Amino acid sequence: MLISDVFQFAREGRVWTGVFALSQMARLADVLARRTGEVQVVLSGSVDERDQAQLALSLSAELVLSCSRCLQELPWPLQVQTCLRPVPAGHPVEQEELLDDDHDVIEVDGGLDVQALAEDEILLALPLMARHEQCTPPQMREAADETSPFAVLAGLRKS
Ligand SMILES: [Zn+2]
Repeated sequence: MLISDVFQFAREGRVWTGVFALSQMARLADVLARRTGEVQVVLSGSVDERDQAQLALSLSAELVLSCSRCLQELPWPLQVQTCLRPVPAGHPVEQEELLDDDHDVIEVDGGLDVQALAEDEILLALPLMARHEQCTPPQMREAADETSPFAVLAGLRKS
């Protein structure tokens, strides 16, 4: 999905809704435990009080990540709501715009690839270390076996 003129899209207050298959997002392949399912996308264009283009992006998906502790699957419902300010590539961005926490500035060179944008935002939203609230890492389970009563008894017999 390519929006050929995102500034016109914003000026006209247009809205694009659609879905992308997770299996088509190559950069997510490394972080997803399962590559089935899809992302629902709503992109709405508008202009702010200074007549500058802005895009409200909403993403929702039921992701399955890998738990960094037990390495098992971890369901991860994703909800992203973000506001983006497109600027033409090479256009100098004012310092105050970069410091504006409410909007992320994105450079747009020609058209806007909505799927690539959605993938970028998903990668930003994912935790560095996803883990279950409670689970046991595999090496801890082995360690627990080593200190079983039988292991302790065997140790006492040697002494
Ligand atoms: Zn876990």
